[in-house]
Amino acid sequence: MTVLTLENASRTYEAVVPVHALKSVSITINQGDFVAIEGPSGAGKSTLLNILALLDKPTHGSYRIDDVDVVGLSDTRAADLRGSIFGFVFQSFHLLPLRTAVENVMLGMAYQGGDPESARMRAYEALAFVGLSERADIPAERLSGGERQRIAIARAICGGAPVVVADEPTGNLDSRSSQLIMDMLADLNDRGTTIIVVTHDPAVAAKASRRLRVVDGVVTQQSDASANDTADGPAAQCGQTTEPGAALFQGTAASPSRHRRRSPFRCTRGGTPTTASRVHPRMLWHDVSQALVSDPGRSSRLIGVVVIAVTLFLTVISLAYTASYQVSDVFDAQRNRRVAVALTDPTDTGYIPQVVAQPDPEAVDRIASINGLQEAMLVSRHDNHPATSDPSLRVVDLPVYGLTPITPLKDLLTTRGETLPLDHDQVLIGEAAASACGLGPLDASPTLWVRGKPYEVVGIITDAGIRSELLGGVVMSQEEASAVAPAAENVLEIRTAPGAASAIANVAALAWVPTHVETAITDSPPDPTQMREELETSVRTALQTLTVVSALSGLAILSNAMNNSVQTRTGELALRRAMGAKRNHLRTLISAESLLIGLIGGACGSILSLLVVLAITIFQHWRPVIDPLSFPLGIVAGILTGLAAAVIASRKAGRIHPAQALR
Ligand code: ADP
Ligand code: MG
Repeated sequence: MTVLTLENASRTYEAVVPVHALKSVSITINQGDFVAIEGPSGAGKSTLLNILALLDKPTHGSYRIDDVDVVGLSDTRAADLRGSIFGFVFQSFHLLPLRTAVENVMLGMAYQGGDPESARMRAYEALAFVGLSERADIPAERLSGGERQRIAIARAICGGAPVVVADEPTGNLDSRSSQLIMDMLADLNDRGTTIIVVTHDPAVAAKASRRLRVVDGVVTQQSDASANDTADGPAAQCGQTTEPGAALFQGTAASPSRHRRRSPFRCTRGGTPTTASRVHPRMLWHDVSQALVSDPGRSSRLIGVVVIAVTLFLTVISLAYTASYQVSDVFDAQRNRRVAVALTDPTDTGYIPQVVAQPDPEAVDRIASINGLQEAMLVSRHDNHPATSDPSLRVVDLPVYGLTPITPLKDLLTTRGETLPLDHDQVLIGEAAASACGLGPLDASPTLWVRGKPYEVVGIITDAGIRSELLGGVVMSQEEASAVAPAAENVLEIRTAPGAASAIANVAALAWVPTHVETAITDSPPDPTQMREELETSVRTALQTLTVVSALSGLAILSNAMNNSVQTRTGELALRRAMGAKRNHLRTLISAESLLIGLIGGACGSILSLLVVLAITIFQHWRPVIDPLSFPLGIVAGILTGLAAAVIASRKAGRIHPAQALR
């Protein structure tokens, strides 16, 4: 038994000029009543219905359901009661257009804690009751108005609501469909369901057993022809237990009174149903996946946003690592792998000790065996001397260098032609020097006269790395060069393995000139590890800033999209509130949808970013550095983006006022 008792209830809407929509209304509605609320537009009918169905509260007066005062109930508790007692039918149907008929009906049970399978079974029963079994799998948007309203009735009754409220249920229907809907409501009433229907159609109101008239917020009882008339009439129909929907009304049929029906509630307090509305986890999953699947356009737009954000995020992270490795590679290749030891002139005579000009074979062996040394050569400079490729033509002054290769040379010195070492009558000439003295082609074995002495030019130096001055000079063996003139400078050039520079710098001078170490000046990178780290860090910091910016912009876009989505779904969310959803249920729904979108977007973004990083590194000839953790990282980033993006949207969903949104 559900008895609704309104006493001296008023409802005033706050506005610039407050609207007194209901003025001191007192009515009692008993279980099994069929009440029509009539009246002109704006009279306060919907306001009254919303208060009766717990979508709104009176500003003054009392409202009791059975013996429980419901005006003071918390929002959560009101949702419990609303979901347990009332089924809703609206003028504009409020179906989810892209979901099938059966999915729409199932929504009526989404907040009753059942699993999707049993909800689906009951939904089919309800569809059978409204005669739409064969339309179960058709999306609501493809059904006619009359069919949509029947789906709405099925949704209102599938959860076993003892009271069905309908606000202008035939307002959008032709007279034939209106007739069918009213017959259906009458049938429901015959089975014991309380029906409260708002209408301004006298033909519709004529079906009711009680007619209330609302004018200017004041209610007058117009007729009470057969209220609580339990003994006769349509009650006889209820004996047919095999007809469609019979299972929805178990107990009603067998009962002697049509007003006694099986209670769908587990416990009662003072006669009031108190089943808390709750969502079965699988029902939530079903609902969320339906939301995604039924509107693929919207879902793919939202997922697309996450994909872009996660791809950007992961790509920038990966590139940050790739690029800093790239920096190290370049860094190692150049500055960080060079050690040079120069012998100075302790006597200040302009020339350095004789010992250096004739390299000691033991010293060469010692240098060659230094750990981590890749290439080494000794280079001495022996002033400028006149040189020419043809004594009858022109003579130019060229610096003469002596060179002793300690290892085969590849990176320190690149030549065209003969390889080192040089015989006493052979020279190499730098590329620039060769063109300065008009040297002929190498394969014609050109001769170069230096200080009048002929030498065979066996090679042209094309690259001497940091010792680019060699490109402008003549290079001969150190022995030969010392014979031309004493050395003014003597340098040991070393190229080291990556990371070996500082260790080699410590021993190179000792290996070369153990007795003259004090005259040696070693030039090596000041602190290679620190410099390299600084460089890597600054590149990484720049890219990581980009990462944060990309993550934040993705978050902002998704958050905005989720917000818009809630905005466009206000009607649906308000309907869920009418079905008994608590604010938290809506927040959870929106967050779960956003989380699923984030999860899918994160996975797709991870794969996409992998492809992008590969493409960029291949194109740039970089070494790709791909962290195996980036896939799970992408998914986590997607989920977090989804959850964070839902914060504002889910709060907004929780704030939707059902009575206002469902008008
Ligand atoms: P009916 O359903 O009989 O057409 P309503 O109950 O919808 O009438 O509205 C009764 C009166 O209250 C109308 O004058 C309407 O404009 C006003 N009203 C309804 N809702 C609000 C609201 N949220 N704020 C201000 N006025 C409102
Ligand atoms: Mg209305």
